[in-house]
Amino acid sequence: MAEAGSFADRVKQQADIVRVVGEYVRLKKTGKDFSGLCPFHQEKTPSFTVSPVKQIFYCFGCGKGGDVFNFVMEVEKSPFPEAVRTVAEKCGIAIPRPRERSPEERQETQQRAALLEMHREAQSFFAKQMFGTAEGKVARAYLEDREIDNKTIERFGIGYAPSDGDALLRLLKQKYPEKLLTESGLISRGEDSGRFFDRFRRRITFPIANDSGKIVAFGCRALGDEQPKYLNSPETPIYSKSNVLYHLDRAKEALRRSDFAILVEGYMDAIAVARAGISNVVASCGTSLAEPQIKLLSRFTKRVIINYDPDTAGQAATERSVALLLEQDFEVRVLALPPVGDKKADPDLFIRERGAEEYTRLLKEAPPYVDYLIGRARKMDLTTGEGKRRAVNFLLPYVQKIPNAILRSEWATRIAQQLRLDEPVLRAALTKAAKERRSEVKVQPELVGRSAKPVERRLIRMLAEADQFRREIAQLLQSEKAYQGLETEHIFSALIAANLADTPVQATEVAAHLEEQDRRVLFEVLFEEAAEPSWEEAQSCVEALRQRQAERELADVQRSIEASGPGPELRVLLERKQGLMRRLAAR
Ligand SMILES: [Zn+2]
Repeated sequence: MAEAGSFADRVKQQADIVRVVGEYVRLKKTGKDFSGLCPFHQEKTPSFTVSPVKQIFYCFGCGKGGDVFNFVMEVEKSPFPEAVRTVAEKCGIAIPRPRERSPEERQETQQRAALLEMHREAQSFFAKQMFGTAEGKVARAYLEDREIDNKTIERFGIGYAPSDGDALLRLLKQKYPEKLLTESGLISRGEDSGRFFDRFRRRITFPIANDSGKIVAFGCRALGDEQPKYLNSPETPIYSKSNVLYHLDRAKEALRRSDFAILVEGYMDAIAVARAGISNVVASCGTSLAEPQIKLLSRFTKRVIINYDPDTAGQAATERSVALLLEQDFEVRVLALPPVGDKKADPDLFIRERGAEEYTRLLKEAPPYVDYLIGRARKMDLTTGEGKRRAVNFLLPYVQKIPNAILRSEWATRIAQQLRLDEPVLRAALTKAAKERRSEVKVQPELVGRSAKPVERRLIRMLAEADQFRREIAQLLQSEKAYQGLETEHIFSALIAANLADTPVQATEVAAHLEEQDRRVLFEVLFEEAAEPSWEEAQSCVEALRQRQAERELADVQRSIEASGPGPELRVLLERKQGLMRRLAAR
């Protein structure tokens, strides 16, 4: 697919598959390759492998494999040209003018581009209001009260939406059609009057960016007592609440480095934590985490400390998020901040009152989620059997979500101790929960059916990689057809054809044209540990194939001899038999 000299080919030459895949899968170095949990099938132990040397990936579980483009096409469900552009963008390679698209695609792309541009303009408008107007000055005073200084305002792009109600509208309607104005979510339209007006008025604005840092929405806080206190952008063609984590675009590096994320509720919390020098913080920007947000986060880390508000809604959100994160095999801890004075503390308030150092200390000590949940259960009435039953029922679903059986059993014991359970019924319920794991999805990967003998594997590998003499091997094999009749015949003929064509051999492209089982064999061979090949070895491998072919032929001839009656045909067969035996003996 990536023709030599094409843009796709250039991208492929420059791209680093480990870096690209690393944005979706947490990779660990194992020998000279990297491995991780396969994004294409459910698994608990990594069988997904990436080779930086060969710039290919392969999953030994589900058999998916290919080059960097195949990976992006599969994971993003995008067509080839789109995947090339994605890889180019991720690797900072300049993209030439856009390809021809269908009219619908073009319209959609234009719409998205226009909406992004509108958000960019809105952002600079809000920022100007903050610093250039009397109203903005009031907003800044309000922020200063919360210890958000001008530097922080600039760093996080905090802005101000004025109260007059159509200032942004006047700016945008010069350039954009009415339809686009309402689609942006920045402008509303009165249901009765049909009049257009600014959605955000007299509010402090927080730009919300997608994971590549493009502003796609705004979260806005009322300056006075207006309701609602928080008003956010609605769902638009460029923004879906459940697909975006606030601050992720700025947290990426820190998430990878620290290998854990602090999950807070709102943007004010995220800003407070980030300002305290802890950059690996993201906000769900809603009362509960959504599954796409968890998937998004899992590209960077699978360890989370939840630090939601301590109120009832926050506790419920914590419990829901714990359950969701466990389902995705996250390691979860929960930080419940102690009250400051008589006030329940969210991260913002806590850091302002007690300082970043104290916050960091508590973060380090944040207990595993089960301890947090036991703590919650202990606050229930445990004096009666009924109360204990309720506490156990509260904990059971979480115990069942723990992926590891030993851990599950340990926690069951611990819960029994902590809640002072001795009723056999309750203990039995816990033990049962520890043994089973409901909601566990098991996908039994298909095993590779076709086998290839070592000699064949060796030759396949050389045909794919031994640049100094693979063309010669191809010629040799082609003239003798020694691979015919092998189970790997199709792999050989595809590789030989690729070598004899006047283009560089791309193993992944050869693979793309093979049947599933052959494709798997090819990838497995490519990922085998192998010593540097030599021309002598290649020759002896070809010789071994010839020998095996002669043996197969001999067996065939022998069968024909036994089946045929006397006559000239038999003589021909007997001569062939002698010839084959001489050939075999000559070795
Ligand atoms: Zn897989």
